[in-house]
Amino acid sequence: MIHINENFLNLQDSYLFSTVAKKVAEFQKNNPDKKVIKLGIGDVTKPIVPAVIEAMHKATDELANAETFRGYGPEQGYDFLKNAIVENDFKNLGIEPDEIFVSDGAKCDCGNIVDIFAQNNKVAITDPVYPVYLDTNVMSGRSGSYNEKNQMYENIVYMPVNKENHFVPELPKTKVDIIYLCFPNNPTGTVLKKEELQKFVNYAKENKAIILFDAAYEVFITEDNVPHSIYEIDGAKEVAIEFRSFSKTAGFTGVRCAYSVVPKTVYGYTASGEKISLNKLWNRRTTTKFNGVSYVVQRAAEATYSQEGRKQILENIRYYQENAKIIKNGLIEAGFEVYGGVNSPYIWLKTPHHMKSWEFFDELLEKANVVGTPGSGFGPSGEGYFRLTAFGTQENSIEAIKRIKEIKW
Ligand code: PLP
Repeated sequence: MIHINENFLNLQDSYLFSTVAKKVAEFQKNNPDKKVIKLGIGDVTKPIVPAVIEAMHKATDELANAETFRGYGPEQGYDFLKNAIVENDFKNLGIEPDEIFVSDGAKCDCGNIVDIFAQNNKVAITDPVYPVYLDTNVMSGRSGSYNEKNQMYENIVYMPVNKENHFVPELPKTKVDIIYLCFPNNPTGTVLKKEELQKFVNYAKENKAIILFDAAYEVFITEDNVPHSIYEIDGAKEVAIEFRSFSKTAGFTGVRCAYSVVPKTVYGYTASGEKISLNKLWNRRTTTKFNGVSYVVQRAAEATYSQEGRKQILENIRYYQENAKIIKNGLIEAGFEVYGGVNSPYIWLKTPHHMKSWEFFDELLEKANVVGTPGSGFGPSGEGYFRLTAFGTQENSIEAIKRIKEIKW
């Protein structure tokens, strides 16, 4: 008899985006004349820039020719891309090409990394959170059971981020082994300053813990003193793994390319206390379970670092940043309490009059015909908040704000 991994039965069904889609479909059916503006899902809308498309065409043509054809590539990624990553994203930070592992997504990397850690590790996540960190730990048996009342798993340490603590998580009060941090944050759009992140690095060093740092939105940082990489922090190369993605940076959500950084100076321990290199373990896992990202996609990723590619990509980023500004300032003018949106494409607003997140969703759809994402869908501390994204068109961002301002909240 085949037995299943029963940890999967411990997962809570996420109805977040399916419920959003259902409610929107219902509204549109009943109001066919209304133009609904969707600022909910975190997908990009701008097409891939010409310099990248050109590189993809060229690489495709290479595959059509016996002399330039490529079959299996290195599982960890081609040197040309790893070198470009190190040179451009980690200049002067001491990261080496063999500490870079190219993949088909930061989602997969964040999810797969749990393979190399023992089941009895204690995990800390911020709340609200990008759900992948939590669910992959539930699947691998680290969560304990789910408590319906407080909507938390008993073995997970939740670090609330809310307006009371200025969206800076406190260090865990109980000892933890794995800490997930995502900054700029999805969903709150907030960031940590260097000295705030330093506290987590110090904690990890003191407790022989590891930080899994998701920097998928790094390119949106505009302010000084906000670290783009955790390796800007003293000591981080001993305790942190970083995830990066070309998805939001270069519009690769459909193309698929990302990478993880696992410094050779980061160690884990066996039950008997022996130090083991995590770079070696992750390399072993990668070579066993992955056959590399396609050549064409890696050439595309490389082109994002060319002078022309970089220039074109940054134009798109500026467009989204302008949207974020329009949405954020417009909401403030409309009397909302607003967070994020400065170093991030996400705008996180406090719902008015203590409205529940879903209540606000319904009102916004009904009155302004604008769709966003209820904060409660990202964790219990997201209740009473709401996420809008800057990834729509400028026209729609302006129109959405105009409609929101016309309503008496
Ligand atoms: N990490 C965070 C915080 C995200 O919000 C997302 C996507 O929305 C990802 C990772 C996924 O990135 P990728 O498209 O590279 O899988």
